[in-house]
Amino acid sequence: MIPVEEAIDIILQVVQPLQPVRVPFHDALGLVLAEDVHAAEPMPPFRAASVDGYAVISNDPAPVRRVVGDQSAGYIDDLQVTTGTAVRVTTGAPVPPGADAMVMVEFTEEQDGRVAINTTVDPGSNVRPVGQDLTEGQLVLAQGTLMGPPYVGLLAMIGKTEVLVHPKPTVGVMSTGDELVEPGDLPKPGQIRDANRFSLMSAVREVGGIPIDLGKVTDEAGKLKETIERGLSSANALLTSGGVSMGQLDLVKPYLAERGQVHFGRVRAKPGKPVTFATIDGTPVFAMPGFPVSALVSFEVYVRPALLKMAGHTRLNRPRRRVTLSHDVSHTTGRTEFQRAIVTHGTDGEYTAITTGFQGSGRLLSMHGANALLVLPYQQGDFPAGTEVEAIITGPLQETDREFDR
Ligand code: AMP
Ligand code: MG
Repeated sequence: MIPVEEAIDIILQVVQPLQPVRVPFHDALGLVLAEDVHAAEPMPPFRAASVDGYAVISNDPAPVRRVVGDQSAGYIDDLQVTTGTAVRVTTGAPVPPGADAMVMVEFTEEQDGRVAINTTVDPGSNVRPVGQDLTEGQLVLAQGTLMGPPYVGLLAMIGKTEVLVHPKPTVGVMSTGDELVEPGDLPKPGQIRDANRFSLMSAVREVGGIPIDLGKVTDEAGKLKETIERGLSSANALLTSGGVSMGQLDLVKPYLAERGQVHFGRVRAKPGKPVTFATIDGTPVFAMPGFPVSALVSFEVYVRPALLKMAGHTRLNRPRRRVTLSHDVSHTTGRTEFQRAIVTHGTDGEYTAITTGFQGSGRLLSMHGANALLVLPYQQGDFPAGTEVEAIITGPLQETDREFDR
């Protein structure tokens, strides 16, 4: 049995970012950049008017100026501003040579081809100089950037129509167990519905991966082998649930050991002691315990950082906070326990935690409403109210005096 931290270290040593691929820039949302992106040209590429109005010479003493033409956006007219003249210019249009300022139309009066300026004019006012927003050659987006909407816009702006990114990991997800039926089916005596395949596929999607549904398999070596092999041929990583405990029909671990390399098979954790990590021909395989909470908590602790790393992320960890327990929390030494909790914070900056009630590994409702996992170290026993413990923050924090659902 190895400590949780060691298990995570092993996983992150083995798992590597996926080979970058070139994609159309507009498909890059949610992906991590695998190259530095520089601007080939300045932005704006010409001196641009930032208002509708008149291009003038700022220190021109003429009280009224002759309007010598129109310059609107989208082309460059052959116009020149000289002392005593002005050009009518629209927002986004090039400011004609000679002019060093734009006067907003709101501060002018035009009559019979002449315009009066009713304001003081500072040099450079309302003119966006060349390269104000981006200079030529500037680093616009660095490798490792998670692409959000403004970044897609920046790629469009600089004409970078294809970009190198890490792909989203595809993750084959399967459930094992003779007792499992599909959610839409009526369980016969002794049967239950398969919950894990769907919670795990959702967790994969939430962290930015692409789940591949491998279905559920019965506890038969042949079926198990066939499904794992199908997963290996179609996905970047595999997730199984069930069949890794000590029962006679827990056949997942033996197959992983026979077919690949098992890096660990027991972790000093509760829930999730039998969680198993293997690689088969380089493909990471995470074998999760069957209890629905064990499967999802194990996903959170071991699989989530791995999938983030595969997708090219460099920040793999959730934020952690010291939180004060609002009530006694019982805990047996020997395994690091992850209790589901609701963490709130007061205006004094203090974080307070209450657990979500009975912490049974089958009670999926113990994850409902939780925004944190309390980390109760294996060396220490019960924690009385008022104790500070560490919490992994998994969801949005609420303010203490706000109402919340339980
Ligand atoms: P196992 O890890 O296969 O020994 O399963 C542990 C417990 O989790 C048993 O009570 C199983 O019935 C239950 N279980 C296993 N797989 C699933 C699943 N896919 N959905 C819901 N419960 C499951
Ligand atoms: Mg089972």
